[in-house]
Amino acid sequence: MNDKEPVNLRCENCGQAVLPTDTVCWQCGWKLAATAVDRRVVDEERPLSVTAVAVYAALSLFIILALLVVFSILGSYPS
Ligand SMILES: [Zn+2]
Repeated sequence: MNDKEPVNLRCENCGQAVLPTDTVCWQCGWKLAATAVDRRVVDEERPLSVTAVAVYAALSLFIILALLVVFSILGSYPS
């Protein structure tokens, strides 16, 4: 979980700032709709992270291949 991410969720009834994990406003007891949004964010986060891992894996392979090509072109490194 990202604690530094700014969350501007507010109670629709009293305007009190509430947490995305809250289902009910702690001040007035208003039933919050933030839980559905929170679930949707979590669902969207999973395929995103898988995509990110795939991108990082492809990038790593590309960098390794690029390094191999560079070293083969350099051949003997002048020391
Ligand atoms: Zn409230």
